[in-house]
Amino acid sequence: MAKTSILHCSFCGRSRDEVKILIAGQEGHICENCVDHAQEIIEQELNTKKDGSGNNGANFKLTIRKPAEIKSFLDEYVIGQDDAKKILSVAVYNHFKRINYKQVSEDVEIEKSNIIMVGETGTGKTLLAKTIARLLNVPFAIVDATVFTEAGYVGEDVESMLTRLLQNCDYDVAAAERGIVYVDELDKIARKGDNPSITRDVSGEGVQQGLLKMLEGTEVLVPPQGGRKHPEQKMIKVDTKNILFICGGAFDGIDQVIARRVNTNAIGFSVNKEEQEHQRKNLLQFINAQDLKKFGLIPELLGRLPIVTYLNPLDKETLRSILTVPKNSLIKQFTRLFEMEGIDLVIEDDVLDFMVSKALEYKLGARGLRSICESILTDAMFELPGSSTKHFTVDISYAEKMFGKSKLSALKVA
Ligand code: ADP
Repeated sequence: MAKTSILHCSFCGRSRDEVKILIAGQEGHICENCVDHAQEIIEQELNTKKDGSGNNGANFKLTIRKPAEIKSFLDEYVIGQDDAKKILSVAVYNHFKRINYKQVSEDVEIEKSNIIMVGETGTGKTLLAKTIARLLNVPFAIVDATVFTEAGYVGEDVESMLTRLLQNCDYDVAAAERGIVYVDELDKIARKGDNPSITRDVSGEGVQQGLLKMLEGTEVLVPPQGGRKHPEQKMIKVDTKNILFICGGAFDGIDQVIARRVNTNAIGFSVNKEEQEHQRKNLLQFINAQDLKKFGLIPELLGRLPIVTYLNPLDKETLRSILTVPKNSLIKQFTRLFEMEGIDLVIEDDVLDFMVSKALEYKLGARGLRSICESILTDAMFELPGSSTKHFTVDISYAEKMFGKSKLSALKVA
């Protein structure tokens, strides 16, 4: 038989027997493997051409939502905190309206609406910022203000927060320039006392100064790998004009400052703990820039964070709802994990109350609810996969037993 009668793929050389499909062209053939490969190359090439960076801009196609839509999306994931949700929704909507508006007209300049959120740790500040970024489909980075130091000192420069943002969107600069940065623990860089210090304050005021330009909008040269360990790296230019900065902090003790301003009796004189908590909760809603200045934020920085809002401490009812209500609540997550093993998980109501009471007793807040759930369910998650169990009910005695032998229960109550 003549050798030439055996057909081959003209690209990879595989013979007819080695492939499933061989498509004939005018002068050659192509197999299904090479078609797939060619398709991948085409996709990669097209994406590279789109923005010159190799990123597919479509990954971060901004979806602008009306404030009410933003709020109802937040409601699905964050319990309570209605005031903060409303204020954030409007601020974020205006921010993105401003970005679009600028392209049409230059006459009225709408200022940037960077936001500051005040509330105890674990009350949902990060969750709010993260959820908004997810809804709008914009790059998002969480940074901790305490790691920054004034340029020239040991520690990270404030520019490194943009490195984080770039890394989170695969160095898609155009997307990063419309992203959201959440700066946590802003209270930790407050100046101690209300008086400007004479000596340089490396960790506090210096960092606030560093943040100023960034918040207002400027072109920053960002080291792609962050830090100063790679002096040879090529800098990337990022314009922060349209980046939304949301800052958060616990600002412990700010209630006293508010109390003084609103001329109420300072908290602490009341003997009743519940009453104290209630007053504290009510005071935070009066927070304004003046209080934050008293706390130690410099006026220039506050000028660039025009929107101030607050988060309520989480009470028993809120913690209980956090366990079951949000779209991806802890209980829903664990139920799904068991479901994947073919096990129907039921957690009795009084177990949920038990979890909440432990979170409050051990002062673990919402963040602690996960570890409490884990401590109760770990043994079951270890033993049940592969067993014949199809239903598993967690009742209070099982929960107490499991929690009792966990490391968590060994924590001393403060
Ligand atoms: P913060 O930034 O205020 O310190 P986080 O937003 O990081 O607190 O909250 C920690 C965790 O606690 C979140 O991941 C979430 O699981 C839970 N959580 C806190 N507050 C809420 C809330 N209001 N609604 C739903 N979950 C919450």
